[in-house]
Amino acid sequence: MTTEVEFINVSKTYLNRQEVVHVLKGVSGEVEKGSIVTIIGPSGSGKSTILSLCNLLLTPDEGEVRIQGKDVRNWDIQKLRRRVGIAFQGAPMLTGTVLDNLSLPLRLQGRTLENPKKYMEFVGLTEDHLSRQAKELSGGQRQRLSLARTLVNDPAILLLDEVTSALDSLSAHEVEELILRINREQNTTILWVTHDQSQAERVGDQTWLVIDGRVVEAAPTKQFFVKPKEEQTKQFLELRRGYK
Ligand code: ADP
Repeated sequence: MTTEVEFINVSKTYLNRQEVVHVLKGVSGEVEKGSIVTIIGPSGSGKSTILSLCNLLLTPDEGEVRIQGKDVRNWDIQKLRRRVGIAFQGAPMLTGTVLDNLSLPLRLQGRTLENPKKYMEFVGLTEDHLSRQAKELSGGQRQRLSLARTLVNDPAILLLDEVTSALDSLSAHEVEELILRINREQNTTILWVTHDQSQAERVGDQTWLVIDGRVVEAAPTKQFFVKPKEEQTKQFLELRRGYK
């Protein structure tokens, strides 16, 4: 087993109207190559911040984040961002065609996208979509395009932030299946933030619960949901189940 992503006692603060807010308070954890870690927790607990530290959208104040064994601060940022792709809720698109959006990551590097059709087909879109305006696609199509746009860099690691939460249940299911296929076929390591507990349970190999900037429990997914160890985890799972 190779460790692909490692958090070592990571802390992060934000300055919010002169006030220091401790968003992450000593987060540690490891993600094995080719595995899927699902990250759950209340809104505002620090989940997105954990993702942002993996591709230098943010830097830790204390501690270290290692990608493939190397401190993120020692990576060339462009190289890091090719290795570590990110996709967000709502799949924000730039004005322009689907092709413009798909080829953007390579254009930014002064490269051209050789085979757009391949990526379109992989995510279940067609060549005909390439000339359409990206903003006119449906939510599900935009999320597929967003994943395809990440894949053109051939990332080893994918950071997913609520990528299915804005979609209707059919599209959400299809996008979830697509992500699982990426994981299977390309052995992509995935950190997947989701508020959907059943999704976290379905897709995860490991699950982390983040509450108030701390990883309260990290365990193999099945064990996490069936036999959580921590009292806080039991309460969190109960509370969410009660909403259903
Ligand atoms: P989650 O993904 O679990 O909802 P986030 O990581 O987005 O949580 O945010 C954790 C906390 O950090 C929240 O209280 C949020 O308001 C705060 N926060 C996030 N980004 C910033 C920022 N750029 N400036 C100040 N506070 C921020």
